[in-house]
Amino acid sequence: MLSITEHSYGLVGKCLSHSYSKVYFDEKIAKLGMDRHHYDLLEMPTPDKIRDVSVKNNLSGFNVTIPYKESIIPYLDSIDYSANEIGAVNTVKVLRDADGSLRLHGYNTDAPAFLDTLHPLLKPWHTDALILGTGGAAKAVAWALRQLGIGYLFVSRTPEQRPDSIGYSELKDSTQLLIVNATPVGMFPNVDASPWPYPDMLTQRHLCYDLIYNPSPTLFLRQAKQHEATIQDGLAMLHRQADLAFEIWEGENKTESN
Ligand code: NAP
Repeated sequence: MLSITEHSYGLVGKCLSHSYSKVYFDEKIAKLGMDRHHYDLLEMPTPDKIRDVSVKNNLSGFNVTIPYKESIIPYLDSIDYSANEIGAVNTVKVLRDADGSLRLHGYNTDAPAFLDTLHPLLKPWHTDALILGTGGAAKAVAWALRQLGIGYLFVSRTPEQRPDSIGYSELKDSTQLLIVNATPVGMFPNVDASPWPYPDMLTQRHLCYDLIYNPSPTLFLRQAKQHEATIQDGLAMLHRQADLAFEIWEGENKTESN
């Protein structure tokens, strides 16, 4: 049975004009016939404003994006186990006590979304990975790889700051066959940039996953495809993390099968 209660959801971040989330949720809400629900883009100058934003917009839940996935955590009442391990939150459920006070509970749906969309592409030789970048998305990727028993190293511009990372100059000797771009390099409008400096190293046995979904494919994935690698862009993950967020807000029975 469809919910007849009105629910307001939204995306909280700093600069949201290029977000794909509203279009996706508007279509999803329309497909499910939940016309009393709505999803809005909610720009917020600093993360400490999250309670005011939740009250003002009567939110039942929201997604969190750049640059607040980590900095919002101190302003939440609780976070679930995996979000705590990852150190980043991209989904929040808003609960209201009898006296009307809010309780904000944080989750990370990026990590299971990456896991779910990577898993069908894996081959037995994808036992070790390189994760380009060390930010919130890279940490979600690392969490998923740990669940899958895949070893990984981060690739950073400042590898001296992390013992589990290497620098870009060391990539020419790398043997990992799974490469994940979790940097913004190659994202619109900088579409002529690639984070991977050695495209000629890529082979049929490589699996190249780019978390970027605009453009799709990125230069990194186009070069990987030229070398017959398997490629995956960030759109499937974007949709999956949104579906998982909606399940958290509404309950699993409200998610369409697609
Ligand atoms: P972020 O924190 O801004 O950046 C991630 C990391 O990338 C940084 O920590 C940095 O690592 C590296 N980096 C940043 N600028 C760089 C540059 N100019 N050159 C080389 N490395 C650079 O971003 P994020 O939130 O983790 O997101 C990363 C990307 O994933 C974004 O494009 C985002 O849109 C995408 N994403 C997609 C999904 C999806 O559902 N498809 C979900 C989440 C994120 P070092 O300083 O260590 O080099």
